[in-house]
Amino acid sequence: MYESERKDLISKLAKNGITDPLVLKAMMDVERHLFVPQVMIPHAYKDVALPIGFSQTISQPYTVAFMTQALRLKPGAKVLEIGTGSGYQAAVLYKMGMRVYSIERQSDIFLRTQKLFDELGIRVVTRLGDGTIGWNEFSPFEGIIVTAGSPIVPVNLKKQLDKGGRLVIPVGDRKSQTLQIITKTGDDSFIAEEVPKFAFVPLIGREGWSQK
Ligand code: SAM
Repeated sequence: MYESERKDLISKLAKNGITDPLVLKAMMDVERHLFVPQVMIPHAYKDVALPIGFSQTISQPYTVAFMTQALRLKPGAKVLEIGTGSGYQAAVLYKMGMRVYSIERQSDIFLRTQKLFDELGIRVVTRLGDGTIGWNEFSPFEGIIVTAGSPIVPVNLKKQLDKGGRLVIPVGDRKSQTLQIITKTGDDSFIAEEVPKFAFVPLIGREGWSQK
């Protein structure tokens, strides 16, 4: 369903600088309309973030594509996502052949998305909790993607990156952020690139924002 809408969206992403064929193919394959509430289905293939309930959003497709491309992962890589939300980003990574671990802090969203993953046969290892402390048990990760805006780069996420791995995280104030793409070059050395102008809902947790 909605194949031609999806095709139009993917060609728009390609025109806007998304060149990784693995990312484009996965976003062509994953049906975004299955990850949004019923009333939002007519908007599922517009390049916009949409509300998913509980004051949260499914990220804009361009943002998903850009962040996923920035991870520069090879199929089979182990990747941690902070902020499962609708499950769309995790589904894209899964379709690309990654081993996906994902943490969500809101229990209603967590349970709803867990059910959707089961129904769609998407095998992602999920946990309910504060993702700012990462998931030490399964570390190191070749990629870590944070899909909520953070005031700082949580130290545990840097620790849990594999050497050569990348952490992609929006950092800034509650309303707008700069996307940081951080590569781990040694046990305690990193290089970072910054891409301005992103806007995410807040990352709430021990190393994130407080609830209010
Ligand atoms: N990746 C999601 C998707 O594909 O729909 C988009 C996620 S939404 C923009 C951000 C999510 O991060 C929300 O579901 C929110 O509850 C969650 N979140 C915020 N702080 C968190 C934290 N400390 N740990 C885990 N999840 C968190």
